[in-house]
Amino acid sequence: MPWDLLTLVFIIGLVWGSFLNVCIHRIPLEENIVFPNSRCPACKAAIRWHDNIPLFGWLLLGGRCRDCRGRISPVYPAVELIAALLTLTTVLRFGLTPTGIALVVLGYALIVLTAIDFEHYILPDVITLPGIAIGLLLSFTPWFAPPMASWQGALWGAGAGGGGLWLFAWLFRKISGKDGMGQGDIKLTAMLGAWLGWQALPFTIFGSAVIGSVVGIGWILTSGRDRSLPIPFGPYLALAAWAYLYLGPAVYAWYLGRLATSF
Ligand SMILES: [Zn+2]
Repeated sequence: MPWDLLTLVFIIGLVWGSFLNVCIHRIPLEENIVFPNSRCPACKAAIRWHDNIPLFGWLLLGGRCRDCRGRISPVYPAVELIAALLTLTTVLRFGLTPTGIALVVLGYALIVLTAIDFEHYILPDVITLPGIAIGLLLSFTPWFAPPMASWQGALWGAGAGGGGLWLFAWLFRKISGKDGMGQGDIKLTAMLGAWLGWQALPFTIFGSAVIGSVVGIGWILTSGRDRSLPIPFGPYLALAAWAYLYLGPAVYAWYLGRLATSF
């Protein structure tokens, strides 16, 4: 793909990242994501259009508001940069195809869910429920190729994935008397199943448990984080699902090979 097109894809990713920031900060507060324009979180001054340029606006202002000099969180430019890199790498890997574009949209939803879950410990229904429906709808159209799900894969993914996890959470609560997995995590798993098929779920669930354990233990060791605090699980599901796009088929082939030689 030519450089000028790749640059354009990167810039489009930055602009979308700026919109994802709006979603991340307004959806948990149930605010309108279109109006009003962005304001400084500290002094509420409207942000000038030339300071609102994704990533570079923050860099040029040194991470401070032009009006009150209050610090503006580095999470804003980080989300823009991550969205741009996700857009670029997904287009490079899956092309400017319906599949590539759909996966970019899925990636954007996962960025918003991850950021909200880290801060508020929720995965809002306004993203996951339409996410499940759209994934199922797309699977019935003829436009998409793997790793997007076939309609059979999507139905099994959303149904068995969501249902299986719901059952697991229910059993866990019955036996231990504690909440293991949140309703939001179950809906996110069903959403991932609807988009990527049931095939993605063993890798995603196992992978998220591994990432979650490593991060959770590291978190407790380094910061002495209180163990009784909830650990947001959505980010690890999202990260593991994204790893599946790149590593899933190779890991499954390796595992099946091991299984075959052990008989
Ligand atoms: Zn300000």
